[in-house]
Amino acid sequence: MKNSILKFSILIILAIVIFVFNFKSNSITKPEYVIVIHGGAGNASNKDINEEQQKEYIEKLNEALAIGEEILKNGGNCIDAIEKTINFMEDCPLFNAGKGAVFTNDGHNELDASIMQGWDLNAGAVAGVRDIKNPISAAIKVMTNSEHVLLSGKGASEFAAEQLIEIVDSSYFFTEKRWESLQNILKSKKHGTVGCVVLDKYGNLAAGTSTGGMTNKKYNRIGDSPIIGAGTYANNNTCAVSATGHGEYFIRYTVAHDISALMEYKDLSLEEASNIVINEKLVNAGGTGGIIAVDKNGNISMTYNTNMMFRAFAKSTGEKGVGIFESVKP
Ligand code: ASP
Repeated sequence: MKNSILKFSILIILAIVIFVFNFKSNSITKPEYVIVIHGGAGNASNKDINEEQQKEYIEKLNEALAIGEEILKNGGNCIDAIEKTINFMEDCPLFNAGKGAVFTNDGHNELDASIMQGWDLNAGAVAGVRDIKNPISAAIKVMTNSEHVLLSGKGASEFAAEQLIEIVDSSYFFTEKRWESLQNILKSKKHGTVGCVVLDKYGNLAAGTSTGGMTNKKYNRIGDSPIIGAGTYANNNTCAVSATGHGEYFIRYTVAHDISALMEYKDLSLEEASNIVINEKLVNAGGTGGIIAVDKNGNISMTYNTNMMFRAFAKSTGEKGVGIFESVKP
């Protein structure tokens, strides 16, 4: 009798110790919020983007990050943080989204964007739009104010206008640099989408992506960025992912969802899952690009199989990083 009371007491003490340890280590390691952004990936070398341009990109990445972080720090939600962060990048001509978007082969700008929230798997997207100033905002309206997930072309623009999203003349998107890059297409094949993934203070994950697509794409071509599961995916049980790269491969390999599925069904870590999809599956297929992702515990992945990816992250713990070529580890 005495013996079994002793055994029982030891078990209870052990259980308490394990509980306290787990609670402590979780509260130490799990950040309150996390934000990661990308401004596209590509095979440009250090020489293609000179020092001054690199500085400019770093500055804009930091500014974008600060917008999202401020919202999260003050208890804002992940969708709001993503919208405002991406709006800034869409308005900045350095990135291939909104103003500064690349041109189609017939000389137009056609924009794609999508958003997904991880707690109910709701999502919204617009594709092939030519006059919506901030496509990510229109994608959010598709998610929240329509019964659809993806609207394209004229219908998407009409819906956005009804929702009081700003419509602009298509000349707004024109920038000399992108026009020249179309003219120089053989020399310059660049990626440059923008994306943002967030874990907010409420434990919710979300991902958003916005792009002008690929330079010289056939008109009306739609890439991976507005395709849920390809360029964007979020699930509170696993992770939130935003992709950039050669969209056709990201669609065929359902890249963003594949990373989540490897975590869900194979119990892989975010890092392992991203590595398999980006550095093994995509590399074997010949698909170039990368992803940013955050998992439900606040772990980050910024994985790419190209020379560079514009990227930055911040956590509530004060950890921060920004980079283009060099390794920036969370
Ligand atoms: N993924 C985008 C597309 O294929 C392009 C990019 O990320 O640069 O449309």
